[in-house]
Amino acid sequence: MSPHHYDIIVVGAGLVGAAFALCMARIFTDKHSAGNSEASKPSKIALLEARTIAAPTNLSPDTFDSQVVAVTEASRQWLDTLNVWQSCEPRVCPYKRMIVRDAEGTGCIEFDAAEVQRANLGHIVENSVLRASLLSAVAEQDNIDLYNPMAVESLRRDGETITVNLPDGQQLSSSLVVAADGANSPIREQMGFELRTWGYEHTAITATIKTEKSHGFTAQQWFTPSGPLAFLPLRSSAQESPADAHYVSIVWSQTPERAKELMALDEVEFCRELTITSEGALGTIESASERVQFPLTQRHGVDYVQSGIALIGDAAHTIHPLAGQGVNLGFGDARVLAEELARTLEQSGELGGLQVLKRYQRRRKPDNLAMMATMEGFKRLFERDELPVRLLRNIGMSGLNRLAPLKNSLIRQAMGLD
Ligand SMILES: Cc1cc2nc3c(=O)[nH]c(=O)nc-3n(C[C@H](O)[C@H](O)[C@H](O)COP(=O)(O)OP(=O)(O)OC[C@H]3O[C@@H](n4cnc5c(N)ncnc54)[C@H](O)[C@@H]3O)c2cc1C
Repeated sequence: MSPHHYDIIVVGAGLVGAAFALCMARIFTDKHSAGNSEASKPSKIALLEARTIAAPTNLSPDTFDSQVVAVTEASRQWLDTLNVWQSCEPRVCPYKRMIVRDAEGTGCIEFDAAEVQRANLGHIVENSVLRASLLSAVAEQDNIDLYNPMAVESLRRDGETITVNLPDGQQLSSSLVVAADGANSPIREQMGFELRTWGYEHTAITATIKTEKSHGFTAQQWFTPSGPLAFLPLRSSAQESPADAHYVSIVWSQTPERAKELMALDEVEFCRELTITSEGALGTIESASERVQFPLTQRHGVDYVQSGIALIGDAAHTIHPLAGQGVNLGFGDARVLAEELARTLEQSGELGGLQVLKRYQRRRKPDNLAMMATMEGFKRLFERDELPVRLLRNIGMSGLNRLAPLKNSLIRQAMGLD
């Protein structure tokens, strides 16, 4: 049986793979309706996902997915053009302010959306809510075939065609395979992409908590020598008022030893530790979910592309979650790769051509590397416990807090707008 041919095969329907497949499907649809649609066959995409995609559950006002992402304004705008943002909105929490503190001193920086004439600095959304919205949009595209559950078993290159072997014996072929198969990308591994890895020596603990005081639509972060603690505000109902918003998602990155101790604590002791580290900023804390832990590793593909293959999202790079940029970098990859492929389609070029894919790599690598270097710098700066470093850090943070132009530029960069 000859392989089923697709214009693009996307492996992995996580946030990045699903968004990329959707974006490309819309580009194909637009091109098809702009051309002689009678004469040409519409281009098709295969989207393969290994894990069974569960039907969306109706999350209740006080039950949250313990994995959330902070979506930058640039990513939000892009998701909005894909028409997936609106359906997330009842569960999306905008944050208008962000407070970053040095828990070892008095250093503090406050960012306010009003300082850059914006309504919000960003939005917190549960991964499952955003993914459900993406997949329901994918289901409406008749030029995407979703294979689920279906794990790619192996890949074979025959000249300019890549053949994908599936466990049920089916074969799919394409001139372009986009690997959005996550941090441990099997495609990256099989195709021999070289990877630089760097253990952060941190484990992130995520959980949902209920706080005595309202979070006031503010994201907060405390840096300690053993790692940062982030409080990310959640929205439990669309009508929630700023005075009555008490659910917060935490990302507490700690050394593996400390994370192990924290995971072993009972709920009361864990919440007490959280209250101490957060300096009681939101009053007494109650646990509202189980804790989940993730070992953190920095990974970066030396190349993101080979002829006929492109890595995007966590398959190409993973980064410390301390500034909430991981999926935003992945959405940046997806958007730029789609732009380059759209340009190639205009010129009737070959989608999997190395030159085309290299343009994607050239545009994305500097941004991804710069963000990774900044996160590494932040992490190292706050790990230092010596008194002179702590003093300088506190003076620096307080000084920066008074420097409006520099601060505004930082806010715009974090929003993905510069
Ligand atoms: C604790 C923590 C907090 C974070 N907070 C933030 C934040 O605030 N903001 C932010 O921007 N980012 C954040 N991130 C990072 C963000 O979650 C990731 O960057 C993002 O989810 C990666 O998406 P992805 O689609 O690239 O990969 P994944 O979500 O890993 O998706 C990969 C998909 O590929 C599938 N797959 C794998 N192998 C195969 C195969 N052989 N065949 C078929 N399918 C396959 C998998 O089942 C999976 O569904 C955080 C990460 C962590 C760990």
